[in-house]
Amino acid sequence: MAETGFSDDKILRYSRQLLVPGFDLDSQQALTHARVLVVGAGGLGCPAALYLAGAGVGSLTLMDPDQVEVHNLHRQIAFRQADLGRPKARALAEQLSDLNPEVQCSVREESADEDVLDALLPETELVLDCTDNFAARRAINHACVRADTPFVSGAAIRREGQLAAFDRRQSDSACYACLYGDSEGGDERCAESGILGPVVGHVASFQALLALYLLIGQPVAQTLHRFDGTALAWRSAGFSRDPACPVCADGVEAAQE
Ligand SMILES: [Zn+2]
Repeated sequence: MAETGFSDDKILRYSRQLLVPGFDLDSQQALTHARVLVVGAGGLGCPAALYLAGAGVGSLTLMDPDQVEVHNLHRQIAFRQADLGRPKARALAEQLSDLNPEVQCSVREESADEDVLDALLPETELVLDCTDNFAARRAINHACVRADTPFVSGAAIRREGQLAAFDRRQSDSACYACLYGDSEGGDERCAESGILGPVVGHVASFQALLALYLLIGQPVAQTLHRFDGTALAWRSAGFSRDPACPVCADGVEAAQE
């Protein structure tokens, strides 16, 4: 295996995913060199980042301004009782490093605004939108459109979830605003509406899977996936670029506020 530069230990660590048809040493190499930004270290960010670290994504930046609170623990599975009061991004980074010492973790204890994202995206191959509010999603969408950086957006509330990948590197690909518009909507927060832990974990797992596919160059359809946690059923529907989109239409330069 000398031609890959992979040690026997590394081959062993990733052996079970290397056995999967369509995932080979080149795929593993792509993950090793990948730099991923995870925005939000909560119910989505914890499981998604754990899976990406376990899979061998070489560099993970974790962004979250909050501290761990006791009502997070039922779903934010990287955290333990002893983490209460600690910054989420830092506590998650420690878990990822414990899981896989080969992963380089960096921590940003701040909210995602467009200035911060504009500075980070040139060094970022993929963004995971694991946030819980429209303002952050909007900032991620604007910045990713400007930088042509793909992102995978997930959301979950009560027993429902949804996710989609937005990859502006593909011709005719839509952005988040093509699908949802670019105006502030009424955020539904887990604090008011509730969330079951396995529901948000399920969405996060799919986010991580889409992220792995994008990182190894496997095509990802432009599809909105919706999860009904009562019926345990996924529904999927394609969506298209909006030629009049206020963010990504021709001639619009992903206007920054
Ligand atoms: Zn758009």
